[in-house]
Order: sequence, then C-alpha cells, then structure tokens
Amino acid sequence: KLQTAIVGLPNVGKSTLFNALTESQGAEAANYPFCTIDPNIGLVRVPDKRLENLTTVNTSVKTVPTALEFVDVAGLIKGASKGEGLGNKFLDVIRQCDAIVHVVRCFEDEDVIHVDGTVDPVRDAELINLELAFADLAQVEQRILRIRKDTRAGKADPNEMNALLKVEKVLGADKPARYAELTDEEELSIKTLGLLSRKPMIYAANVADSDLANGNEMVTKLKEVAEAEGANLVVVSAQVEAELVELEDADRDEFLESLEVTLDDCGLRALIREAYDLLKLQTYYTSGPTESRAWTIKQGWTAPQAAGVIHTDFERGFIRAETISYDDLIEAGSEAAAKSKGLLRSEGKEYIVQDGDVILFRFNV
Ligand code: GDP
Repeated sequence: KLQTAIVGLPNVGKSTLFNALTESQGAEAANYPFCTIDPNIGLVRVPDKRLENLTTVNTSVKTVPTALEFVDVAGLIKGASKGEGLGNKFLDVIRQCDAIVHVVRCFEDEDVIHVDGTVDPVRDAELINLELAFADLAQVEQRILRIRKDTRAGKADPNEMNALLKVEKVLGADKPARYAELTDEEELSIKTLGLLSRKPMIYAANVADSDLANGNEMVTKLKEVAEAEGANLVVVSAQVEAELVELEDADRDEFLESLEVTLDDCGLRALIREAYDLLKLQTYYTSGPTESRAWTIKQGWTAPQAAGVIHTDFERGFIRAETISYDDLIEAGSEAAAKSKGLLRSEGKEYIVQDGDVILFRFNV
C-alpha cells in the first residue's frame, strides 16, 4: 500500500486539507470505500479525465476510480528529531510513507496562532526540512557505526557503506538526503532505512481564499525554495476546499466565481495528481458496459503483474492481454472501430504495460 504523508508545522492547515481531501469525495463515490480508515488515514479518489471519457465511450454503468492513501501527520514540531513532543512517533509514521506533501502556511489570520508568532513560509519550510534531515543524520550515523563493526566481522555490504557516507555528507551540509547521487545498488541497500528527506516531496502552499486566483508574495518566496530543490509546488486553499465540501453544486459555482477561479485551478485535484506522479505510479483501465475502472500499477510492470492487481488468479493463469491504448480507442470512437482498424493488440507475458492501456485479460482458472 502506497501512502503519502501530509506534514507541516501545527496550525498550517494540514487537517483542514486532509478532511477536504477525504470528504470531498465521499458523496459522489458510492462504489468505492473512500472512507477514512483511521482518523489520520484517508482514501482519496484520483481525478481522471480519461476514465470519465472511457465511461462515456463504453456507456459503462459504473465508474471506479483508483485511490491513494493520505496520512495526516500531526504534531511535527521544532525538536521532533530530538524527541520533542511525540517527535519520534510522528517521524516513524512518515518513515512508513512513500511520498510527502509538505503544507506551508501562506495565509495571514490573527485568529489562527502561528507557533513561531509570525507567518514566514520560507522559515517554516526550512524548519520542517531540517527536522527531517536531523532525524536522518542521527539514523545514518548510527548505521555507519553498526556497519563498521560488521565490516570488521567481514559481513558488511560495501554498497551500503558507500551510500551512507554519501548521504551523511549531504546531510552534514544541511541538505536533504535526496540530493545524494546513489547507484541503484546503493539506493537499494539503504531502502529499509526509510530516510525522510530522501522521499519525494511536493509543497502545498496554503493561501487565503482571496489569494487563490493570483497567489501572493509568500507563495512567490516559497516557490523559489521549491525551485532550488527541484520540487513542485501547488497552491491550495484549505479553507476554500473545506467550504466547497459543504456546498451544493449551484452554490459551489457561484462561490468559485466570486473567487475568480474554476474547480480545476483550486489545486486539490492537481495536488492529488502530483502525489500520484511522485509515487511513480501509472494507470491502466478495464472498460466495458458494466464498468470502467482505473487500476494503479508501478511504471515498468509486465502484463501479468498488472493483471495481479485485479486478482492473483489473473496473474497466475495469465494467457494474454487484449490491449488498446487509450488514445487509439478514443480516436477510433469505439472498441469495435478500433478492432477493425487493427488497433487491438494481443500482448503476451513479457509486455510492459503502458500508461493509459485499456486491457482485457485472458486467463486460465
Ligand atoms: P493543522 O494543525 O496544520 O492540522 O491545522 P488545521 O487544519 O487544524 O488548521 C488550523 C487553523 O487554521 C484552523 O482554525 C483552520 O480553520 C485555520 N485554517 C486552515 N487553513 C486556513 C486558510 O487557508 N485560511 C485561514 N484563514 N485559516 C485557515
């Protein structure tokens, strides 16, 4: 199960955003348990235009989107890496996650207390990033000591030592571990450490409703930080999202119009898509009159592996995958038309599934 952690200082809008992410979907998604699994873990539907189009083309009765798990990690504060608050516990939660959404406060509001007294997104972002890096450094140093012992006993993996030393150097220069350039073998050797600052991360700049359309100076500054790190930044307004959840469709349009934005510019959909990409995921589809459904796989998976996501029997008894690319199907206008144009391919065991493939699996039971 791939999970994305939502982190940030207290009172920056994490929970508001998390609730909007999970609740915004409950009502429309009758076919899927987009529920909150745990108070802090929620399943979020991945918005998908292609899936909507497939539903139309095949006049499917049901549409089943794919989902991502988000985890609201409350309580990360300055000193967390030294065990302040419940620091270690929260850091462990992030360690289990595969990607990070870093929420940064870019709104002024006298009624919402800032833990450091003033609103300064660049300082806030650095503070959280440093806590993550400190925690990593402590872990890396401990591991290096451990391996030195193993080396003397002649049982250490040299890749791991190389990786740790490279990461230690980067962390020592106050940079996130993701800056370290590792070979595939080195990467693999330290995977179980779950280094926090090596996880893929996006910034979510949380702005006031009035700044959603055009951003503000705080967002501009934070963007510079993100750019320097090669990280993406999405502008969202947790407050707007929370209100949208409460509104009926007609009121919703009026509300959005008053803010001079459309639902697509609101950022929440973009944030989910970015998280999806960050996890190096891709989608293939099954589609027919009964249902159109999106399935999530990792990039590079073979057809039998992809079939296994539906059912382990599909993987075990895999014969072939009748495949049409999404673009071919839409261009042809229907499955029958695509077939007569020879666009339906029969793919075997070695086939690497491509993003957007529409597949019918043939298998033995
Ligand atoms: P967390 O501690 O990061 O989870 O923050 P919360 O989501 O609990 O938000 C803290 C407070 O800030 C709550 O009172 C929210 O209503 C408020 N808040 C969250 N986002 C916004 C926003 O975009 N604008 C304003 N004005 N208040 C917000």
